[in-house]
Amino acid sequence: MNWITKIIKAGEKIKTAIHKRASKEEIAKSDWTSCCKGPILKKDLEKNLWVCPDCNRHHRISPKQRFDIFFGKNNYEIFKTPIPKDDPLDWTDSKPYKTRLKTARKKTGMDCGMMVTSGTINNIKVTAVASDFDFLGASMAAAEGEAFLYGIQHAIENQIPFICFSSGGGMRMMESLISLSQMTRTTLAINELKKNNLPYIVVLTDPTAGGITASYAMLGDLEIAESDHCLISFAGARVIKATIKEDLLKDFRKAIMFRKLVL
Ligand SMILES: [Zn+2]
Repeated sequence: MNWITKIIKAGEKIKTAIHKRASKEEIAKSDWTSCCKGPILKKDLEKNLWVCPDCNRHHRISPKQRFDIFFGKNNYEIFKTPIPKDDPLDWTDSKPYKTRLKTARKKTGMDCGMMVTSGTINNIKVTAVASDFDFLGASMAAAEGEAFLYGIQHAIENQIPFICFSSGGGMRMMESLISLSQMTRTTLAINELKKNNLPYIVVLTDPTAGGITASYAMLGDLEIAESDHCLISFAGARVIKATIKEDLLKDFRKAIMFRKLVL
């Protein structure tokens, strides 16, 4: 190998190193993530409850990570909730819905996008649910509806408060009307909880949008936003801008905006 070939080979290596970007899987498996000041160790972020110490951004966390913080590590019970038949409409868009479900289950280790748990907080027993954004954007379909109803039933049977950590982009269109009917089902279930005089507390996390905002996420006796910057909305910003034909405010659809409006 002469010196010219050596230089060309080295150049190729550098080119590959620059162009090769980490895949989503590699990023998820890495010990590092990034925030305002560049790379940050996940371990350091976890110590600070997944909140960036510099910009106060609340990083998205899985239901398991959330309940480990909320109840204490392994200090709660996770329920197995009923799973209706997969893919009732035999749906295919760019990929078959069955494949999407399989990937989401493998990625999250969950059967559906919502986890139902029960544990004790300040000596008060509660039932709590949370959605996983990594499970098809925490969208709501029949299985998630069953999980929510299971949680409400558990709260009523035990006469304990019900806490919902809401997140998700809305109803899952791969189940069409079956998904949309979950808006009614969850609303009716919450009414049953209220008839029993049990508190329904909603913690809005980033992002809570679409049919989720239009149903169970806005029916709490108490509504708390996880951080000022979590997105809470019904329609997308572009749709609203096109409808009202005006520029939107800086913090439009962010929790901080709601606080400004209320105060
Ligand atoms: Zn930051």
